[in-house]
Parts: sequence; structure tokens; C-alpha cells
Amino acid sequence: MRLRPHHLFCVQGYKGTDTEDDYLVNLRWIADRVWQEPYTPVEVVDGPDDVCAMCPHLKDGLCLWKEAGEDVVRAHDAALFSALGLADGQTTSIAEIRVKLQTDPAVDAAVRKQCAGCPWLDNCAFMNGEL
Ligand code: SF4
Repeated sequence: MRLRPHHLFCVQGYKGTDTEDDYLVNLRWIADRVWQEPYTPVEVVDGPDDVCAMCPHLKDGLCLWKEAGEDVVRAHDAALFSALGLADGQTTSIAEIRVKLQTDPAVDAAVRKQCAGCPWLDNCAFMNGEL
């Protein structure tokens, strides 16, 4: 599995919706898998990943979800690479990420700061304190 840093948290928080398009079906499939198999190796990547693969905003390898979307997303990911102590191409797991979240307040704070403006907050168990 390949995930960019901010998706390490999207896949933990995603609660599902009644109306899922192909993108959300794919996100839910990945989310279900990482909860059922939290030690699945995850390659952390600085670019499009397994979630982006089904996203209608991905064009020619760039994230165009809003103006300057690629720059915005890469900035979020750069901050999370730093907070997690990971680099492009390294392998981790959701289990390992959860330990960092639960034991390092700086990691938790960095994630909450980067996720603060996300349009999916209402659908995120992590940001709603349900995890
Ligand atoms: S909005 Fe951008 S970062 Fe998010 S899944 Fe789509 S292409 Fe990837």
C-alpha cells in the first residue's frame, strides 16, 4: 500500500457516507483494510498514492482539487513528513502511526493543525475525537 502522509490520517478517520462514488468506495476499502490489518506495510510517498488513484481531481499526476491544490497538498504532506520523522519512500504501518499519535503530543498537534481546514471534518472520527 502506498499513502501520502496526510492520507495516513484520512484512512483512520473516514467514517463513510450513504452516497459513495468510486473515489469514496476506494477510500473506504483502504480504510477498512488498515483497520483490519494495521500492520500492513505502508510506503509513505511524496505524491499521488492509492487514495489519489481514484480521485477525479488528479490530473497528469497533479492534485487540482482547488487553485494551487498541488502546492497546498505538498505543504501539508511536508509538515507531516517532518512531524512523523519519515521521508519519501520509507515504510511504516498504521499501527506504528497510531503509536506515534498516542505517545507524542507534537505529532497529534501537527496532524490537527494540518487537518484543521479539511472539508471532510464532519466525516472524520479522528478530528471529532472519536478515536
Ligand atoms: S484531492 Fe488531491 S490529495 Fe486528495 S485524493 Fe485527490 S488528488 Fe489526492
